[in-house]
Order: sequence, then C-alpha cells, then structure tokens
Amino acid sequence: MIICKSADEIRIMHKAGKIVAKVFLKIEEILEPGITTDYIDRIAEATIRSEKAVPAFKGYRGKLSKKPFPSSVCISINEEVVHGIPGKRVIKNGELVSIDVGVKIDGFYGDAARTYKVGDVSNTADRLWNATREALDMAIGKCVSGNRLSDISNIIENRAEAEGFSVVKDFVGHGIGRDMHEDPQILNYGPPGQGPILKQGMVLAIEPMFNQGTSDVEISRDLWTVVTMDRKLSCHFEDTVAIWEDDPLILTRLT
Ligand code: MG
Repeated sequence: MIICKSADEIRIMHKAGKIVAKVFLKIEEILEPGITTDYIDRIAEATIRSEKAVPAFKGYRGKLSKKPFPSSVCISINEEVVHGIPGKRVIKNGELVSIDVGVKIDGFYGDAARTYKVGDVSNTADRLWNATREALDMAIGKCVSGNRLSDISNIIENRAEAEGFSVVKDFVGHGIGRDMHEDPQILNYGPPGQGPILKQGMVLAIEPMFNQGTSDVEISRDLWTVVTMDRKLSCHFEDTVAIWEDDPLILTRLT
C-alpha cells in the first residue's frame, strides 16, 4: 500500500532531506585522495547528530544480511554498486565514490546518494557519471500527478541504453516516509505507462544504478557490499522526491 503524506508530514520529510543535503555539503569539503572511508563516515555521523537526527543505516538489518549495517553511511567505490561498508580503505585519485546517506528525524526518513569523481577519472567513468546523474533528473521530471510509476523506470533505462550502459535490476528505488522502505518498489527498467498512477503526497526515493558492463551483481563476502559481476564500474544517484501540486518537490536538495 502506498502511503500518501499530508503537507505537515512533507514538511518534516523536507527537514530530514535538508539534513541529508547538508551531510553531502560537508563531505564535499573533505573528500580528496588520501582520506579513509571511515573518516567520511565519522564526519557524516557527526553532521547528522549535530542536527539532532539519527543515521538511518546504522544498525539497519537488510533482507540479505543477518548482520546489522555497522556504519552511518554506505560508501561504494568503483565496481562496488551500493551498501559498501566504510573502513580503512583509502580513497585514490581517479576513483568513483558513491555515498548513500539516510537520516531519521521526528519519525520520518530522508534518503539520497551522490557519486563523486575523485581527481581525474577516466572518460568512461565520466560518461557513466553523467548518464546516471542525468537519468535521476529526468526521472524526477516524471514525478508529476497523473503519470504512471513505470514512466520513471522507463526513462531511467532509456538513458542507460542510449549511452551503452546497463541498469542494475536486483536493487530498486522505493517509497519512503515513516519507514525507510515503503511501497512502491521503483524498478530502474521496464516499459512506460504501467503501475500505480502518481498522486499528490506520494514520496519516492528514486535511485538509478548504472553499470559500465553487465547489469549482473553479486554480494561480497562482507555480506553487504554489492559489486558488479564483471568488476566494471558502477554509479549511483538518489533523491527523495514528493509528488506535490504542479511540480516535483525534491526533498534532499538545498536549492
Ligand atoms: Mg534508498
């Protein structure tokens, strides 16, 4: 069941989303070759807690892993798709670093991801990054009352295919609200014009994941990190978006 949010609830979700956006601003200040992913995690957690919010991923129990997620943010580098665990790994020049941030405040969640190009990345990495980012923006453009859910899925897949990339099929976007993962699931592929009709008050976490090579992925030995089967690059962007009046309301951006 898709839960539509009231104006008051959207206001709280916007508060959560703005904290997520602030975390990214903070990360952008410190992200450079030579720092560890643990350091990013510590800065992110401190920023979240300074806003009196809670890091939503810490202690999260997924469907696949019996082990709770140990950190505040997910950091997934290069061939890692999502759910990478911060640790001693040092960020290097030329890497694609995806960071997923979730927060909870006043009973509601905000969820977003950004992929950063650290230093000089390859042409392919740059193309993959652009395509994924553009796909998210195009998908957000579909978040208008009267459209169908799969219009979002379709425009994401089309963008990937136009650039010769694939979309991850094993992980999907999701509704969000008092739970981090609510209905509906939002596939990153499929034909348009299907699924529920979008209406005011629906809040969706849309998250295209594009792979350079195969769409196939597998879970690493740490039971969390998702990696591409062919170990080629992957890229991930996500925003929490409300369907509201005439235009989509992006809750996880400051502008
Ligand atoms: Mg999400």
